[in-house]
Amino acid sequence: MAKGYSIFSILKHALRPSEPWPEAWAKPEPKPNYDAIIIGGGGHGLATAYYLAKNHGLTNIAVLEKGYIGSGNVGRNTTLIRSDYMLGANTAFFEKSMQMWEGLSHELDFNCMVSHRGRVVVAVSPWQMDGFARRGNIMRLHGIDAELLSREELQKEVPYLDYSKNARFPIYGAIHQRRAGTVRHDAVAWGYARAASQLGVHIIENCEVTGILKSGNKVVGVETSRGKILSDKIGIAVAGHTSQVARMAGLKLPVESHVLQAFVTEPVKPICHHVVSWGAELFYMSQSDKGGMVFGGHIDGFNTFTQRGQFFKMKDVLEAAVSLAPFMSRLRLLRHWGGINDMTPDGSPFICTTSVEGLYLNGGWCYQGFKATPASGLTFAHTMANNAPHDLNAGFALDRLMKGKELDEHGIGNWTYKQ
Ligand SMILES: Cc1cc2nc3c(=O)[nH]c(=O)nc-3n(C[C@H](O)[C@H](O)[C@H](O)COP(=O)(O)OP(=O)(O)OC[C@H]3O[C@@H](n4cnc5c(N)ncnc54)[C@H](O)[C@@H]3O)c2cc1C
Repeated sequence: MAKGYSIFSILKHALRPSEPWPEAWAKPEPKPNYDAIIIGGGGHGLATAYYLAKNHGLTNIAVLEKGYIGSGNVGRNTTLIRSDYMLGANTAFFEKSMQMWEGLSHELDFNCMVSHRGRVVVAVSPWQMDGFARRGNIMRLHGIDAELLSREELQKEVPYLDYSKNARFPIYGAIHQRRAGTVRHDAVAWGYARAASQLGVHIIENCEVTGILKSGNKVVGVETSRGKILSDKIGIAVAGHTSQVARMAGLKLPVESHVLQAFVTEPVKPICHHVVSWGAELFYMSQSDKGGMVFGGHIDGFNTFTQRGQFFKMKDVLEAAVSLAPFMSRLRLLRHWGGINDMTPDGSPFICTTSVEGLYLNGGWCYQGFKATPASGLTFAHTMANNAPHDLNAGFALDRLMKGKELDEHGIGNWTYKQ
C-alpha cells in the first residue's frame, strides 16, 4: 500500500514506468467484528473513519460501501464549496469546513485541487441587494469574508453576463465570497480513503448493508451482502439512502430522497474564473480545469431513488443558463447526470445520536453536503467516539424540528427567496 507521495516516488515511477503504483488503499476481507462500523463509503463516511482513527485512536473500524468508493454523490456533485450561511449553527459549522479545506491536501498527502476562485451571487432586484448586504454583514461579524459588488464592479470582474437593457432579469450587483470555490470531488474520496486505510481502517467495497441487528434497543451489528458483521457502534452516512437505512433500525426520519441533476458542456477556452450563481432562480456554474462549463439548478421535485434526471428540469436549468450568460447558448451539452439527495424540511443536516443506543446518524445534506465533508467527518467522529455532539454539530440534532429550532436556510445560502 502507498506510504506517501513525494518527488522521489514520482521520479522512481517515471524511471520505471512498468512498475505499478501500489494500491492507494488496502482491500481487506471483512472481519467478524469491529469496534465501530460506518455504513456508506462516500465523502462523509470516509472522513468520519479517518478522524475516528486519527483523533480518537479508534482503528478497529470498517467502512462498508455497497458499490465502489466515489460511486455516490461524492463523485457526482458540482464541487462547489462556500461558507455563506447566516443562521447560528450553520455559520460556524460551514466556516470550520472551509478552513479545513484550506489545509486538506497537505493533511491527506493527496492533491484535492482546492481552488479558491471565489463565488459571486448575482442580484436581480434592489431588495435582493439589501438581503445580500444583510447576509454579508452577518458573515463578516463572524469573521467570514464577504463583499458587496455594485453592478459596475461586477461587470468588471464577470463581463460575460447579460447586462443589456433586454436582459430577462436586470443585474443590480452581487455578493462575493472570495475564499469560496471548488474542490476536485473524487480526489476527496480517494484522499480520505487512502489516509484512513493507512491508519488501519478497513474499507470494504461491494458490501451492501441489508439489515441492522439489535438486541433490545441497542445495535449489535449489521447484515450485509458479505455476511454478518458485529459492532456495538454504528454510524449511518449513506446520503440519498438515509431514510431506507435508518428504517432498518426502526427509525422513521423526516427525510425525502430527490434527484438533483448536473450538466457539463464541451470544453472551451478559459472564460469563467469564478463560481457564478444567480438570484433569479437556483442556478450556478463554474468552468472545470478541462474547460467544460459545469452547472446545475434545483432538484427535480419528486421522491425517487433513480440516479437519472427528467427533461423538464433540464429545460429549466438550460433556460436559466442562457438568460444569465448568453454565450452558453453556443455550447454543446456533453453530459448530464443525477444523484440522490436526502432532503430535510429545513434544508439543514443531521449529525447526531439517535433513540437507538449505539446508532449514530449523519445525513440530510440536501444540496450542500460536499462542502461540509471535512467538518462533517470531524464532528461525526467526535459524536460517535464520545456518544455526544461536538459544539459545532450540537444544533444538528433530530429533535430540532420538534422544538422550534429549525435552521431554515434551505441549504442553499445566498439565494433570492431566503433573504
Ligand atoms: C448533481 C449534484 C450536485 C451537487 N453539488 C454540490 C455542490 O456543488 N456542493 C456541495 O456542497 N454539495 C453538492 N451536492 C451534494 C453532495 O454531493 C452530497 O450532499 C454529499 O456528497 C453527500 O455525502 P456523501 O459524499 O457521503 O454521499 P455519497 O457519496 O452518496 O455516499 C453515500 C454512500 O453510501 C452508500 N450506500 C447507500 N446505501 C448503502 C447500504 N445499504 N450499504 C452500504 N452502503 C450504502 C452509497 O453507495 C454511497 O457511496 C450535489 C449533489 C448532486 C447529486
